[in-house]
Amino acid sequence: MAEQEPKIIPPFDPGASPSATDPCPFCSISSSYSPFPPDQPPPADSPSIDPFQLAPPAFVVLSTPTLVAFLDILPLSRGHLLLCPRAHRFKLTDVTSREAAELGVYLRVLSAALVRATGVKDWNVVQNNGAAAAQVVNHVHYHLIPRPEIRASGRFRESFTMFGRGVREELDDDEAVALAEQVRRSVALVLEEEARKGKL
Ligand SMILES: [Zn+2]
Repeated sequence: MAEQEPKIIPPFDPGASPSATDPCPFCSISSSYSPFPPDQPPPADSPSIDPFQLAPPAFVVLSTPTLVAFLDILPLSRGHLLLCPRAHRFKLTDVTSREAAELGVYLRVLSAALVRATGVKDWNVVQNNGAAAAQVVNHVHYHLIPRPEIRASGRFRESFTMFGRGVREELDDDEAVALAEQVRRSVALVLEEEARKGKL
């Protein structure tokens, strides 16, 4: 199969509405990755989840008809995920009830999957609304941020920044491919376990 040129996502002006000339980066991700069953994710080499269709690449860990989740490209820690509705919504108050319900379900499932995939048992769920509240991309999203004991983590500097880009490190492509695969598999395992326990 011929290699396709990645679709370049220009820097986003958070003050503007998404348009053809100024697309929203999260809308670019949701329009580029079709839904797959979370309990049966495609194999890592499937073209449907090829991270390099976009630039910067998108490491998708969950893609339902309503939601999409992917690795943050400037992670605060290894495994930092973003979860958002597929449709463009600005703030949490702009999502539909159905989207809100599914976001709630998958925050819990992704949290369990993240603990399983990273081995880190503590994490934050953070969601910012509006520029004054440190929302950088104007498409509502939840951060799921594993919090390893800082000195044990090695790779990341001692002071985590919860918001902004101060000490974030760029995601390493090879590590991200492997990590995204681990998270997708962990989501499937969590769903299988919870279905067995009657929790879903
Ligand atoms: Zn958007």
